[in-house]
Amino acid sequence: MSPRPDLGPKPRLGYTQSLLDRAAERRTDAAALAALENNPRAGVYVIGGEMVVLKRRSVVHEPLFTPDEARALSHTGEILFLGLLDGAGRFALAPNAATVEALKNRDDFVVTDLRSIAIQELVESHHLPPIAEGKALLHWHARHRFCSNCGTATNLVDGGWRRDCPACKVQHFPRTDPVVIMLPIAGDRCVLGRSYRFQGSMWSCLAGFMEPGEAIEDAVRRETREEAGIVCGRVSYFTTQPWPFPTSLMIGCHAEALSDDIIIDRTELEDARWFTREEAALMLLRQHPQGLTTPPTVAIAYHIIRAWVEEEIEFS
Ligand SMILES: [Zn+2]
Repeated sequence: MSPRPDLGPKPRLGYTQSLLDRAAERRTDAAALAALENNPRAGVYVIGGEMVVLKRRSVVHEPLFTPDEARALSHTGEILFLGLLDGAGRFALAPNAATVEALKNRDDFVVTDLRSIAIQELVESHHLPPIAEGKALLHWHARHRFCSNCGTATNLVDGGWRRDCPACKVQHFPRTDPVVIMLPIAGDRCVLGRSYRFQGSMWSCLAGFMEPGEAIEDAVRRETREEAGIVCGRVSYFTTQPWPFPTSLMIGCHAEALSDDIIIDRTELEDARWFTREEAALMLLRQHPQGLTTPPTVAIAYHIIRAWVEEEIEFS
């Protein structure tokens, strides 16, 4: 067996290890939230759909606005309470689409998407988890203006962690959509796939939304069989990653492949094939002779593939 490749220090998984205390006990206290918002140490992330507004700086940009600055950009947006950092309130606010477009023309702002911010390290890394939290939560509010039970316009309560229907009294809570993302493996080989939307020569883990009434292990086996025709046996949980595009939780797993022939579902995947451990290592290192790569270090797929390349995976 070839020696374990040296992939260097392990990078941090993107959008995880938030420094914020979500301080759920403050959400129901409107006076406490108002005091936090009026405190000079308060900070607001301004996120319009897929776009995050940053104050332009020379090296890394500044994503935090004062509440007054944020409200000057968005007079109508609802402000959401994300949590506390060293006792200071952190909030999120969404300007409307027209405002976001106008801000793109301002020299003092950088308006770009969160993937670019993470990959290009455009802000200090500790801002990524709260921006992810704010982006996902704002997206839920944007899609839940009306009660799904009776159709009446709903009201934001609890600092943005609930919407109430004034007519039928149903309470609506923010949702997270679980997605299984997995690496089917057999000895020194693994299966990677290419989605039609992937750019360049990137290959990644297979992935798909979990369905109601389904266990994680069953979702892993079903998606692997549907997308690549591979039958899997044992499934090993790896880790999770919040993935605010728009509101997913990626559940990373390794799966024991029991069959060899790949049958690609062309509605889901452009391609899928087996890769050797050596090939996967070169893809992680960006040294593959054909220029093939894994996803970047910010994504859970990089870490799922790396854990297998470094032989850290065992099925129990
Ligand atoms: Zn209702």
